[in-house]
Order: sequence, then structure tokens, then C-alpha cells
Amino acid sequence: MSYTPPPRDPKAPPVRVNLLSDTQTRPTPAMREAMARAEVGDEQSGDDPTVHELCGRVAALLGKEAAVFMPSGTMCNVAATLVHCRPGDEILAHETAHIISREGGAHAALGGFQVTQLKGPDGQFTPQTFRAALHPRSRYQPPQTVVSVEQTANIGGGTIWKKTALDEIVQIAKAQGMATHMDGARLLNATVATGIPAAEMTAGWDSAWIDFSKGLGAPIGGALAGSAAFIDEVWRWKQRLGGSMRQAGIVAAACIYALDHHVDRLAEDHANARALARGLSQIQGVEVQEPETNLVFFKPDGAGVSGDKMVGELRKRGVLLAMMDGRIRACTHLDVSAGMIEETVGHVREIVRTA
Ligand SMILES: *Cc1c(COP(=O)(O)O)cnc(C)c1O
Repeated sequence: MSYTPPPRDPKAPPVRVNLLSDTQTRPTPAMREAMARAEVGDEQSGDDPTVHELCGRVAALLGKEAAVFMPSGTMCNVAATLVHCRPGDEILAHETAHIISREGGAHAALGGFQVTQLKGPDGQFTPQTFRAALHPRSRYQPPQTVVSVEQTANIGGGTIWKKTALDEIVQIAKAQGMATHMDGARLLNATVATGIPAAEMTAGWDSAWIDFSKGLGAPIGGALAGSAAFIDEVWRWKQRLGGSMRQAGIVAAACIYALDHHVDRLAEDHANARALARGLSQIQGVEVQEPETNLVFFKPDGAGVSGDKMVGELRKRGVLLAMMDGRIRACTHLDVSAGMIEETVGHVREIVRTA
């Protein structure tokens, strides 16, 4: 078994619809132009004006004192817990959280932290579940230092945490002396879907970040925000992890472009996701979770086709999507049109019909 994914099969049919992930977007010509025009400097020395502009924009957007530009969302999560916790500390998160299953064990490997997996439907735990998992300070049990939520909850179906639940979790955590961390990889999908500004969603959260390389369509980057003192500590970890960059303004310009041009249009991705779910749910035996944002999870097993078989058959027709934790995930984004959604539904119907 190799850690290196095999190269794309040259005999594979050409890709017609790519629903694998919103990370699959390509920078648009206008975004590339903005990148080419970017003023740059040495980011590591604090001299890149475009990175400064981006960090200022993100701090304001998330209602925090400061922000730092990172190469990835994963590094935002990892650097944040490395600042919040000490070795042996306990992080509480939903059992499907990205920090548990998709960051190579970073929080244990680099920080020596353990993550307690909270349960609950649709990738979310209730404030009551969180409260029940807390224990009094004791010499036996690990210090419970941080609670983490994903807005939106990826494996939960791209579901949106309600503002009331977020506020309640903050209150409980504060009373317990715990820090609060929001993995906002798709936070802006939640704000566009609900109309609730990002800064309201993150109010009371000690750290929060957004990803530019998902639905926003930039090639690289995330930005982590918090208090000035917190971000100062994050910078030390960014340096230690090798995340300090040089003329990063080239990339930051793409992120600024994305904030200016690709946020409101997330509504189109949500409309395409709803259209996909509607089409799929009309096919006998296909079980679909009603999407709240840009992720559509479904199971064709009831139609006599396994998820793996469906993914394989669609691939032969040039439609890419993936199995994720036992269901098929389709992700709409910048490079997916309403016509592609229709085409995808047609293929699924045909595969089920001939099964
Ligand atoms: C993608 C993702 C991340 C990690 O972001 P990268 O930029 O891919 O490193 C973290 N959390 C969630 C919920 C994600 O979907």
C-alpha cells in the first residue's frame, strides 16, 4: 500500500462533471489576473502588503482582533489547537470531525492531545451532549481545554449549526474555562445560506478560520482569526510547522478576489445542490439527505446498486464523486453548472434502471 495516489488513468473517460469536492475548482482567468497584479513582499518578515490586506479583511469579517494567512485549513486547525492546548489535554469534537479523521493524526502526533468524540445526528452534537461530556477538574482525568465545531459540518451533510446552539456551547465552555474553536472551512456557505453574518456566527469563539481553497475557488490558503495575543502565538507555530511563506501576496490576491467575487455566488452552489437532491430523490430506492448548503449525501443501495458500484459506473461516464464514510458525497462548486446537475441525475437514473 502506498501513500501516493496513483496517477489518473490515461484511458479513463474525459471528466464531464466533477462533484468530488469544492477543492477541485480552478482559479478563473480574472482571479489569475488579480494574482498577476499583486503587490508582494516577504510574508515571513511581515512585509507582504497583500497578505496584510487579506488578514485585515478576514479579521473584520470574523469579528476578531487579528488574523494570520496559512497555507491550508488543516494548518489553521493544527496551529490553533497547538496554541490552545498542552500535551495530555483533551479536545472535544464531533466524532465525524475533520480534526479526527482527516489531518493525519496531527493533533496527537504534534500536540499529544486526545480528542473525545461527541455523538449526534448530522455531524453535530447538542449543547446537552457537550455538557454531559464535561468532568470536574481532577488529578485523574485529562484537562478539557477546547471544544471544536465545524461550520458547516462536512461529513454530517454540510449542515449548518444554529446560532443558538453555537451561543450555548460558548456559554458552557466559558463557564468551564475552556477555549472554543470553530473550523470554518465552509463557514461562508453557512452565512450565505442563512443570511447571518460570519462575525455573528463566530461571536464568542476564541478562534475561527475560513478556507479559500474550497467553495471560494482560490488555489491555496486559509486564514485563522482570534485575539491579537492568540494570533501572536499562532505565528510561532506557523514558523515551527514550516507555514511561513515568502511572496505569498500572489496567493493572497486570489483570496481577496474570492472574497470580493465568490461569496454571494455560493447561493448558486446551494441551488444546484438542492436540484441534485430533488432529482436523486425522485429515483426509486435512492436515499438522499436534504442538503442545507453545497454537499449532497446519498445512498443508492435501496435501488439495488451499492455506493461503490454507483461511483464506479458514474466514473465510466465521466462523472466524478466519491464515497465518504459509507455514503456517496456530491459537492457543488464554482465549476459545476445546472446543466451538469441534470446530466448527473440522468446518469444515476440510467444506472439504476439497468441494474
Ligand atoms: C477541507 C477541510 C479542512 C481542511 O482544509 P484544507 O485547506 O484542505 O487543509 C478542515 N475542516 C473541514 C471541515 C474541511 O472540510
